[in-house]
Amino acid sequence: MSQPLNAATGGKPQIVILGAGFAALTAIRELRRLQVQADITVIAPTDTLVYLPSLIWIPAGLRRGEDLKVPLADFFAKHQVRHIQARVDGLSTDGRTVETTAGPVVNDLLLIASGGRYIRKLPGIENALIPCEGIASAEAIRDRLAAMERGTVAIGFGGNPKEPTAVRGGPMFEFLFGADTLLRRQKRRDKIDLVFFNPSPRPGQRLGPKAVDGLLKQMRKRDIKTHLGHKLVRFEPDKVITEGGEFPADLILFMPGLTGPAWLDQTELPRSPGGFVQATATCAVPGLKHVYVAGDAGSFPGPDWMPKQAHQADLQAQTAAQNMAEELKGQPGLRHFKPELICIVDTLDAGMLVFRNNKRSVTLPRMGPFHTMKRMFEQHYLKAYRTR
Ligand SMILES: Cc1cc2nc3c(=O)[nH]c(=O)nc-3n(C[C@H](O)[C@H](O)[C@H](O)COP(=O)(O)OP(=O)(O)OC[C@H]3O[C@@H](n4cnc5c(N)ncnc54)[C@H](O)[C@@H]3O)c2cc1C
Repeated sequence: MSQPLNAATGGKPQIVILGAGFAALTAIRELRRLQVQADITVIAPTDTLVYLPSLIWIPAGLRRGEDLKVPLADFFAKHQVRHIQARVDGLSTDGRTVETTAGPVVNDLLLIASGGRYIRKLPGIENALIPCEGIASAEAIRDRLAAMERGTVAIGFGGNPKEPTAVRGGPMFEFLFGADTLLRRQKRRDKIDLVFFNPSPRPGQRLGPKAVDGLLKQMRKRDIKTHLGHKLVRFEPDKVITEGGEFPADLILFMPGLTGPAWLDQTELPRSPGGFVQATATCAVPGLKHVYVAGDAGSFPGPDWMPKQAHQADLQAQTAAQNMAEELKGQPGLRHFKPELICIVDTLDAGMLVFRNNKRSVTLPRMGPFHTMKRMFEQHYLKAYRTR
């Protein structure tokens, strides 16, 4: 048995969680399910969850920005969580003191769940809309598409050359197919060209070869042009330039690769090649005591298809919470998280389902019920946070 875990603070053990997104909230639920006897403090700039997976439906008007914002004050009250409205901007070498814009906060156990950051290095990136940055970007796409009389919309994503798993392609396929379905419904598709671009000749490889075939087939079927296999050089206000040529674009939607949060630069936390917090299979940060990481902020050991996804963030957060609970009992936290990819690539009227774990890789072709399932899952998922 090791020392009780209240050395840093005295009294009840103090768990501090950085962020209030998918991983952070799942960890809170799991800690309270396990009935840990500890105070929980969340440090995050807002007490609102934005349900990012449904941003893809804003351009077609299937969701409004307001629909995707879930206030968390009641959830925090129900789970006895103290929210400090602040941004983290540093961490002491031993991990016990978090520096924040509201002052230092000490902890006995720390969970880093402050998400990732998009790499904005590509020259001319200001000429592109980055749809995944949040509600405002998705609304800007909606408005730009609505105002467009004719022209070309270019949609693509990049990666992080130092960490191939730090890519977010799924939503870009969804914005692409969603725009096609919407423009056809509005009988405007003949006036607006859609071009999909990616440095890989076979984009979306993390979903598996069958899924890539299905996505490319869907593009051909919908008369979506492709510009694949060429490294991106830069964006201009009216064109996309790659090492393999250029093409005109009146609207560019681009998802850059991901890296770790900027505040890590002010710390001595171990970093992965791509800039994330290094993690072990138990979601612990190697070399530090009682420090865990979950979700997009971390770099985890696992198969090369392991996604940066809300679902994966939830699985890591559950494991981190279980290991923290073990530590509070004086036991080592030895559980390993489960790598798993589950994704419905939505096309506004249907969807393709992809599931991968260490045993199985399943791709089911595009079908109407998968769109309905994705909508139902949103309602089910958010029920835990819409406590009113
Ligand atoms: C358009 C879109 C569609 C997606 N679709 C899917 C999908 O269908 N399925 C799926 O599984 N995943 C999907 N994802 C991915 C999913 O949203 C992310 O993987 C998930 O949000 C990661 O969770 P997280 O908790 O690690 O980080 P986040 O959800 O990004 O949460 C980070 C939290 O940290 C806070 N924070 C940031 N900086 C600081 C700081 N300095 N100090 C304190 N707090 C800070 C933020 O405010 C936020 O509360 C999608 C993402 C996008 C953008």
